[in-house]
Amino acid sequence: KAAPMAPDSPDPAPEFDTSQPTIARVYDALLGGKDNFAADREGAATYLKYVPDAGRCAIENREALIKGVQYLVRTAGIDQFLDIGSGLPTQKNTHQAAQEINPDAKVVYVDKDPIVLAHGRALLATNNSTIVVTADLSKPQEILDNKEITTHLDFTRPIALMIVGIHMHFHDDEQPDEWVRTIMDQLVPGSYLFITDFVDTGEPLQKAMEQAGLESLGNGWIRTPERITEHFLGLPLVPPGLDFLARWFPEDPDGDVPEVEELQPYQRILMAGIAKKG
Ligand code: SAM
Repeated sequence: KAAPMAPDSPDPAPEFDTSQPTIARVYDALLGGKDNFAADREGAATYLKYVPDAGRCAIENREALIKGVQYLVRTAGIDQFLDIGSGLPTQKNTHQAAQEINPDAKVVYVDKDPIVLAHGRALLATNNSTIVVTADLSKPQEILDNKEITTHLDFTRPIALMIVGIHMHFHDDEQPDEWVRTIMDQLVPGSYLFITDFVDTGEPLQKAMEQAGLESLGNGWIRTPERITEHFLGLPLVPPGLDFLARWFPEDPDGDVPEVEELQPYQRILMAGIAKKG
């Protein structure tokens, strides 16, 4: 166990088991952050062994997150975000992307890894529009009943639910769709669901990414585009639909995007999509 890493935290932060890697900290290591321990750096090294461009995948995933949030604020007019599996604030994250367009946009970060909350406390001190909560997507009712969340967000108005970089690939059964459905059922029409996920279109590097996850973290499965589409619960996807991150521009679906065969293999590992609840 190690002491918490947020010395300016107002409350005593939880202790962390640093002997095992966690995806929040491995992802941080891949993004070049400093909030990780030896086991996490070993986990990141395993990813890099199988997928030398794994760090670029992480960066492209964060770039897709920013593109999606910009679309949701600028084009869809969303000003409330429930970002589950938010990860560490290593790089530009949801609240920065949203609030630089609409300074009043409200963001709730939810992550099951308590290290995210420890870092969030420092964030809270300077940003009244953003809160961080420790909770698990697999207990969706606890998220819906959480008073901090229901006070911060107005559930009578549209909310964007973000499940970016966490949905199926860290969960190996059919249940994640039900968890997401439980939350989407409580959001009013005009709300959105934004997902990025590891994809399986039969390419060796996609399989290598899965192998790296299974070896380092014990999860990280890949799914076919058809299966990822099911995660959107039948809600209609906004253009351009589900696509590889580097080709996915929800604000400019007819723009000059690269052909699939022009993408590098590492750029064909993750897909993104946004659906609207009518
Ligand atoms: N969403 C960020 C992004 O895309 O840049 C961070 C993604 S990071 C790869 C995945 C995060 O999801 C980790 O911080 C992990 O702790 C969190 N996570 C995984 N399963 C979760 C669950 N069931 N409930 C809440 N958080 C979860």
